[in-house]
Amino acid sequence: MTVHLVGAGPGDPGLITARGLELVRSCEVLVADALVSQELVDEAPDDALIVSRVGLSQDAVTSLLVAYGAAGLDVVRLKGGDPFVFGRGAEEALALAEGGIPFEIVPGVSSIAAVPASALIPVTHRGVSDRVTIASGHGADGGEPDYAALAGAGGTLVLFMGLERLERLCDGLVDAGLPASTPAAVVSRGTLPDQESVFGTLGDIAGLAAGLESPALVIVGEVVTVGAKLAAALTASVAA
Ligand code: SAH
Repeated sequence: MTVHLVGAGPGDPGLITARGLELVRSCEVLVADALVSQELVDEAPDDALIVSRVGLSQDAVTSLLVAYGAAGLDVVRLKGGDPFVFGRGAEEALALAEGGIPFEIVPGVSSIAAVPASALIPVTHRGVSDRVTIASGHGADGGEPDYAALAGAGGTLVLFMGLERLERLCDGLVDAGLPASTPAAVVSRGTLPDQESVFGTLGDIAGLAAGLESPALVIVGEVVTVGAKLAAALTASVAA
């Protein structure tokens, strides 16, 4: 009886780890996030109980994990990306620990670097960016992010959950001192067949990204220019 908190990767079902897939294939209960691909859910045994997280509160999900774990079942909690990156995995792990339920964390490929890479944007690049700051577009307490800290961080910014308030985020960063000409990109549904990305600047990216679908990641910094260069080079080489 173990509850495995498993990272499913950023979207493409091929990007789950070998260990994660093995656990999905042998579980008795699978509790899956909305962002997790159906193909991975379909890998669970035919007689496994499948629970979708959609429509359930976080408290309800946590209680279910504790209850199934206490019942001695082998449970996989399949989460988008990595369970410990904006995934509330540690909240679930704490509740399991408090309930005396054995648990395991199985890391996943987080969208942090995988989603920028799916648009050919490296999050670090020698001579261009030697650090990455990741932040939630909603701030720590669901309010505004710390724009001054983000604008002063240098290097690359990767903003999660920022699509719905992109204009506000860009304005906040510019007001805090980043030039409106700072390169910025938005990658929607990275690693999935319907992935889309737009490249621009802090000044115009919100307009360019209008109409893109969730989930989407915002990347700010000079590395965006490297990604644009790679994309152009790839297009040219394919056309040649
Ligand atoms: N635990 C996840 C993040 C969950 S928070 C991880 O490690 O990747 C959800 C946010 O992640 C989304 O709002 C979006 O900003 C980002 N995200 C997750 N998957 C994505 C994808 N395929 N393409 C673009 N952004 C993605």
